[in-house]
Amino acid sequence: MKILGIVNQKGGVGKTTTAINLAAYLAAGGRRVLLVDMDPQGNATSGLGLRGAEEGLYQALTEPAQAARYVQPSGQPNLDLLPATPDLAGAGVELAEDSGALKEVLAALNDYDLVVIDAPPSLGPLTINVLAAADALIIPLQAEYYALEGLAGLTETVERVREALNPSLRVLGVAITMFDGRTNLAQEVEQSVRGHFGELVFWSVVPRNVRLSEAPSFAKPINAFAPLSSGAAAYKRLSEEVMQRVEKI
Ligand code: ADP
Ligand code: MG
Repeated sequence: MKILGIVNQKGGVGKTTTAINLAAYLAAGGRRVLLVDMDPQGNATSGLGLRGAEEGLYQALTEPAQAARYVQPSGQPNLDLLPATPDLAGAGVELAEDSGALKEVLAALNDYDLVVIDAPPSLGPLTINVLAAADALIIPLQAEYYALEGLAGLTETVERVREALNPSLRVLGVAITMFDGRTNLAQEVEQSVRGHFGELVFWSVVPRNVRLSEAPSFAKPINAFAPLSSGAAAYKRLSEEVMQRVEKI
C-alpha cells in the first residue's frame, strides 16, 4: 500500500480537485483506492456526495484500530472514502502532540493499493500528520503569478518531518493546475515552475476547465461527470504519470 499526500499550504490551488480526480482515475485503472479527507472543510467528502456524515476520520484518529468502521463507499468502483466531519477542526490540538496518529489509522486499513490524502491549507498539525504518514507527496501549483510563493515554508516543513519522523518521505511530483493556455502569464509561470523543479513537474498540466468546478456539486469525480472534458483528459494522463512514478518507489 502506497500513501500519497496532496499538499500545499495555500488554499484554492487545486488540492481537493486533484485528490478526488486522481483517486478516481487510479481506481478506474483497477487499483483499490482510499481517499482520506484530512481537511475539516470536508470538500473532498462533499465532492463525492457524502455531505453530513456524522462519523469519520476524527473518530478513526481517536481509535485507530477501529478505523475500518468509519470508511464509506464513494459510489465509484474501487474507491472508498474516509470522510471529514466538522469535529476534525478540533483535532489539531490533539494531533499537535501525536504526529503519528494518521499513520496508525492507515496501518489499520490494509485493503488498499493506494491511499490519497487531501490535506488542509496550512502547515499545522493536520498537515504534519499527513507528512508523517505519506510515502510521497504531490504538490499542486496554480498557474498564476504567486505560484512559487510560500513554497519555502512547505519545503522546510517537509525537511523537518523527514529528519524527525519520516526519513523516506519524498516529493513524487509537482502538478500545475488551473492552467489558462490563452494567457502569456500561465505559460511564463509554467516555464518558471519547470525551471525551478525540473523533472519533478508532471508533463500533464491541468487546464482551467469549468467541468472540473461543476463536478463536485453533482457529487461525481470528473471521469463519471464529464469524461470527454479537457479536465478529465488531463487528470487521466496525470494518474498514469503518477502510477509510473509510484511503481518506482
Ligand atoms: P484547494 O483544495 O487547494 O483549496 P480546490 O481543489 O478546492 O483547491 O480548488 C479551488 C477552486 O477552484 C474550487 O472551486 C475548484 O472547483 C476550482 N478548480 C480547481 N481546479 C480547477 C480547474 N482545473 N479548472 C477550473 N476550476 C478549478
Ligand atoms: Mg481543499
